[in-house]
Amino acid sequence: MKTMSITPLLLAAALLLAPGGCRHQTVDNTPAADSTPVCFDDYFFDKTMRLDYYHCGDAHNEMFFFDELKEEPYYAGSHVALTDSFNYGTQRFVLVDEASGREIYSIHYCTLWDEWRCEPEADSVPTGMPEAVVFPYPKHNALAQIWTRMTAEEAAEKKLTHQPWVKKFEYLIKPDDIFVRSFSPSCEVMNLHPAGEPSHCLDIVLLPEGYTEHEREQFVADCRVFVSEFFRFEPWTSNEQRVNIRAVWAPAEESGVSIPSEHKWVNTSMKIAYDTFNSSRYQMTRDYQAVRDIAANAPYDYIYILTNSDKYGGGGIYNFYGIGAGHDRFGSSGAVHVHEFGHQMLGLGDEYVEIGNHISSQYKPGVEPFEANLTTLTDISGKPWAQQQADSDAVYGQALPEGGGYLEHGIWRPYENCLMRALSYPLCPVCQKAVIEYLDYLCR
Ligand SMILES: [Zn+2]
Repeated sequence: MKTMSITPLLLAAALLLAPGGCRHQTVDNTPAADSTPVCFDDYFFDKTMRLDYYHCGDAHNEMFFFDELKEEPYYAGSHVALTDSFNYGTQRFVLVDEASGREIYSIHYCTLWDEWRCEPEADSVPTGMPEAVVFPYPKHNALAQIWTRMTAEEAAEKKLTHQPWVKKFEYLIKPDDIFVRSFSPSCEVMNLHPAGEPSHCLDIVLLPEGYTEHEREQFVADCRVFVSEFFRFEPWTSNEQRVNIRAVWAPAEESGVSIPSEHKWVNTSMKIAYDTFNSSRYQMTRDYQAVRDIAANAPYDYIYILTNSDKYGGGGIYNFYGIGAGHDRFGSSGAVHVHEFGHQMLGLGDEYVEIGNHISSQYKPGVEPFEANLTTLTDISGKPWAQQQADSDAVYGQALPEGGGYLEHGIWRPYENCLMRALSYPLCPVCQKAVIEYLDYLCR
């Protein structure tokens, strides 16, 4: 869900700056998960179903439209951790068994559309983006539901300390529907860092954007940088044996990445471009289904795209995808990848400040953000590190640093420095702990 930036003045410190997205917290009316664990084999086949849909609307309205169901051969997720309990993100996908009414699968995530709706353009121009969610292939009829959080602005108006979930979409899945489109892998898959069984590991798939048939060597070299740099940072160094990294080789027709502000347009498979929301370093694509199409060639939990570019930039959205320049000219690609992966894996917030920024549509005083590493000190029950601050006005021997989530005031971060704030630091202990807890959940 966010991007990161670098400015010439702050280059030495490699400070990260970026626009952000809308986001929020707290489940209060989604189907209650049964306390007994869901038995995978009772409800699912060991393969993936994908629901394609369109996410449409404007700043004030949000709608979802069904597109298509797909069958994909690999399911890399846990067979035990099937229902989400972290409550991060702005969207919640739930699968409800039709016969029993039981929640058998759920996953939280954010999207580019969520960020777009905070842009000024969304006040006057409705738009739609193709999106998709993947889940284990159900054996029986099941209701697919999409819930979204009330916006922070609306929650603040209603004097709520969190943003309740609202159901926006429901579709009855019939697993034997003849129109479920079957996908067969056709691309080469490279095992860059094998660790173990996909269901017990975190599986990252690297996708190439803008590397032509003749640039395979460059892609492989950029992948190697990703792998070595990723494991240079904690907690990844200590958890190397729990992470599989693969790459799909899918060459582009033309070399490079589109940069609209330079009038440069390149014909690539995922239509990635810089200048997203007019931020020169923010790389994203509106076509998430095209991203999923290539990822489906390998087992994966997380998609990270390497772009054939030396221009600084990237982006990462929770349980959506991450992007970084394959070989940026500052040599900072490795740190950028790990920063973006923090957004992508568990929705960590940006801990930096945009000087002079006092208004944000995604963070509102009185509304506690869902991010594990930011607080408005409003509803801190889920953040023990913030509780300590509230109790004693000091945590880890000092007051909590004010500023984060692009805002100077009214929001606090756990430590002065962190990789989620600046590229020259490791992840702070609070972020590392949150990563490990999420990793423990995924690898069960
Ligand atoms: Zn941190």
